[in-house]
Amino acid sequence: MLSLKNICKSYMEGEEKKVILDNINLNFKDKELVFILGASGSGKSTLLNIISGNLKCDSGEIWFDDVCITDFKDKELDNYRSSIIGNIFQDYNLIDYMRVIDNIMLGYNNGLSKKDIGLLLRQLNIYDKQKMLVNKLSGGEKQRVAIARALVNNPDIVLADEPTGALDSKNGIMVMEILKRIANDKLVIVVSHDVSLANKYASRIINIKDGKCDGYNVDIKSGGCSEVRKRKKNYLKILKLAIKNLCLKLGRSFFTSLAVSLGIVSMLLIVNLYSNIDNEVDELEKNVVSVFPIVIKNGDYVINGYQEKKGKDKIIVKNKNEWIHTNKINQNYLNYLSRYDEIKYKTYKYDISMPIISGNYKLIDKKYIKTIPGDNYIIDNYDIIYGRDIKNEYEVLLKIDSNNNVDSEFMDYFNIYNDVDYNTIIGKTLAVVLNDEYYLRKDQYYIGDTDYKSLYSKSKIVLSIVGIIKEKQVTTDDSFLYYSDKLVDRIINENKDSDIVREQLKTDYSVLGLNKNKDEMLSYLGYNTLPSEISLYFQNVEDKNRVIKAMDAYNQHNDKLIYMDSMAETIKIVKNFVMIISGILGLFSTVGVIISTLMIGILTNVRILERKKEIGILRSLGYHQIEVKRLFNFENMILGILASLISLIIVNILVPPINNIMDKYMEVKNVLHVNYGYSIMIIIVNIIIVVLAGNIFAKKASKMDITKCIYNL
Ligand code: ADP
Ligand code: MG
Repeated sequence: MLSLKNICKSYMEGEEKKVILDNINLNFKDKELVFILGASGSGKSTLLNIISGNLKCDSGEIWFDDVCITDFKDKELDNYRSSIIGNIFQDYNLIDYMRVIDNIMLGYNNGLSKKDIGLLLRQLNIYDKQKMLVNKLSGGEKQRVAIARALVNNPDIVLADEPTGALDSKNGIMVMEILKRIANDKLVIVVSHDVSLANKYASRIINIKDGKCDGYNVDIKSGGCSEVRKRKKNYLKILKLAIKNLCLKLGRSFFTSLAVSLGIVSMLLIVNLYSNIDNEVDELEKNVVSVFPIVIKNGDYVINGYQEKKGKDKIIVKNKNEWIHTNKINQNYLNYLSRYDEIKYKTYKYDISMPIISGNYKLIDKKYIKTIPGDNYIIDNYDIIYGRDIKNEYEVLLKIDSNNNVDSEFMDYFNIYNDVDYNTIIGKTLAVVLNDEYYLRKDQYYIGDTDYKSLYSKSKIVLSIVGIIKEKQVTTDDSFLYYSDKLVDRIINENKDSDIVREQLKTDYSVLGLNKNKDEMLSYLGYNTLPSEISLYFQNVEDKNRVIKAMDAYNQHNDKLIYMDSMAETIKIVKNFVMIISGILGLFSTVGVIISTLMIGILTNVRILERKKEIGILRSLGYHQIEVKRLFNFENMILGILASLISLIIVNILVPPINNIMDKYMEVKNVLHVNYGYSIMIIIVNIIIVVLAGNIFAKKASKMDITKCIYNL
């Protein structure tokens, strides 16, 4: 049934070719116990490995019934090893860290029935030891486990390579008795150098010497009844093996996962940070939209995108119209804006000289006095922390910063040099000086009076501080006085037909000797009522965007007025900044992932080298190459999943303190908010990367020679 025809095998030893098997011809019956005897190194193991398909011969054929084994492809050979062959080795070749039953079932692939397996274990007297770890057994017990593993798939041929070599004589006899019993309905080939054992048990003895076989050979006709069963796929068994292996090296598995998780953690943090910062900035925009106005201001602006012509050997005259745009607010534009209810408050700034003198006779710098944008502006955006809101244009409010600080330069106007109570400032007065009070004629020019004390006492318009206010949403840390917009109307009205205005209307030069033309002078003196600057305040982002659209539309058809949206500019800068930061962090995490990928690759290789024998055992039991590859891929997949879990734990631990710090120092709330959609995506990508990284080595492992693995060559 099994027959070897002209089998040759030689090894290269250095330059020299060493013939081990030289034209071997042998026939074996379906049921017999054949001993192959020979000195050590005579090629007995080589012959067995060729029969089992673990090793390829150089030439010749092996026939099993009517199929030619030597023609088999790799996968068919696996099926043959799995279903036809049962291997028993001198040193048992069991997997030490697994239980007896798991070792035995490693050889199982739809062979014996469950009942028969139980019977087999009883016959081998290891039924009670099923749950024990293999490395706790004696040599004789180990060999019986190995025999059970060889038989569990009900093979046709049992190959035993010096099965009693490592045993004492009592256990040796026991094993031989078992093999003899097996030979009642299977072909058992035993390799040995023990002549007396052979004489006692063999039904036939074949001697091997100098690559040749002699002994009693038999003539048999080709039978043709056994079939090479296809191996059933068994993912679960491989998965279990993978888990067992990882558990065995728990510390290493954990630290590998931890290292891999660092790459994942940084990636998770970045993605969650970036996705969230964007939302936060939008949120911020919503919150502060009412505080930052759009500003339209008279003056010159460089036209966006203007490119100078490049001159080489000539001087290029550039036309001012090409690169400078001059904003000039006109009545038409004011009318256009007044159509939009979306504008919540509108403040006009006039380029008007409006000297204000403090009750302590000091001229107050313009930067410390501002117009209130509209009727509800204070209520909406400020808390009145002391005193009350204004009731008319003769009352003003003091705006202080979030820590109650006020510039000393400002407080100097009121002769205040030390910290004071709120009520000290309430009731302080200021005088607005009108043109006729302020300007004194001197030849053809006018000059401002500097006798502030007399100006103050002459003044018709005296203001007093009635309340102290603080921003609800902190945006600036300056301090100043807020006066009603009605005050400006009042001043303009008063100044319209003042002495100096009448004089200025008559002449083209500046009556104050300033570098201003007639128009500018008239504005300055309060004759002209067009503002030089408009600030538009909005309730929400939608309103603001609608008005911006309208302003853009106006600019298409009219004399253009460039507007400044300082908040949008700032937010653009913030967003760009965040993007750059994320990019840099992204680079770091990429490096992290690359390092963990390399590490997984290297560690997979280490595991493969450590477990070469295990790979050999699996392959000799008929496991396909792909199953070996799968074993390592499963292990890496589990490591990847473990790493992901660790990452999620780390991220969840890190998020609250990072948020706290950011809230404390940058006043942004919930910078990090774990987005599980993104997180799962990143984790899946990482697991795939980890598996792919190990796959290269796993593939290499699956392609290793079986005998080299078994004998650790
Ligand atoms: P036996 O089992 O009879 O002791 P083997 O079949 O194991 O002998 O080995 C036969 C000879 O072939 C020995 O000399 C051994 O050194 C040599 N040999 C076995 N495997 C290899 C190999 N992979 N490469 C080179 N020489 C080998
Ligand atoms: Mg040998």
